[in-house]
Amino acid sequence: MIGENRAAVLERMSNACVRAGRAENSVRLLAVSKRQTIETIKAAYQAGQRDFGENYGQELREKAAVLRLPEIRWHSIGRLQVNKVKYVANAAWACHAIDRIEVARELSRRAPGTVKCFLEVDVAGEETKAGVSFEDIPAMLEKVSALDRLEVVGLMCLPPYAITSEASRPYFARMQALATKLQLPELSMGTTQDFEVAVEEGATWVRVGSELFGARPKAI
Ligand SMILES: *Cc1c(COP(=O)(O)O)cnc(C)c1O
Repeated sequence: MIGENRAAVLERMSNACVRAGRAENSVRLLAVSKRQTIETIKAAYQAGQRDFGENYGQELREKAAVLRLPEIRWHSIGRLQVNKVKYVANAAWACHAIDRIEVARELSRRAPGTVKCFLEVDVAGEETKAGVSFEDIPAMLEKVSALDRLEVVGLMCLPPYAITSEASRPYFARMQALATKLQLPELSMGTTQDFEVAVEEGATWVRVGSELFGARPKAI
């Protein structure tokens, strides 16, 4: 079932590439496996999936320790507390939600090698959301880029939940404009609710969970 879901998502991604006149291999699928079991992740791996995204540091570390499979890559996609950085520093190939310099410093201090980083943008100025405003991203980029072992590759966002995927389009377009201006090659944006629109607006990573795995279990 995961194999079929994955094939369908990949097909929708490549159709969106065609619509936008983009190369079909210019966007990759990050499977959001938070709260999914080891068996479920293994099934996705067997279907060809190699990149997995986790929100919680301890869960990422535990899964990475069990699932030592060739070519598998772990992405930390949730907001990190400084004292949780230690859980992901060894296992994460990329961190998608860097939004505070303290977290970046701690990651740089603890990571054994280079970690790819995305700065999280708070696209809608939501008080409760993680992320840095569009205006403050250039200053943040300068600070994080100065740290050892962190390679800032792009920007990431999670727009407010909306009924229609079109509601996300203006945010995604603004993300692309800023990434271009800052010469950042990667854009991590688009989830089950809006990944095709994200691809049309320049995403290079889409983070899809429920459309691949079905509804998330409440706890594992
Ligand atoms: C859970 C989550 C996703 C995936 O959401 P779905 O709606 O299941 O596709 C993507 N990005 C982040 C940051 C998440 O927390």
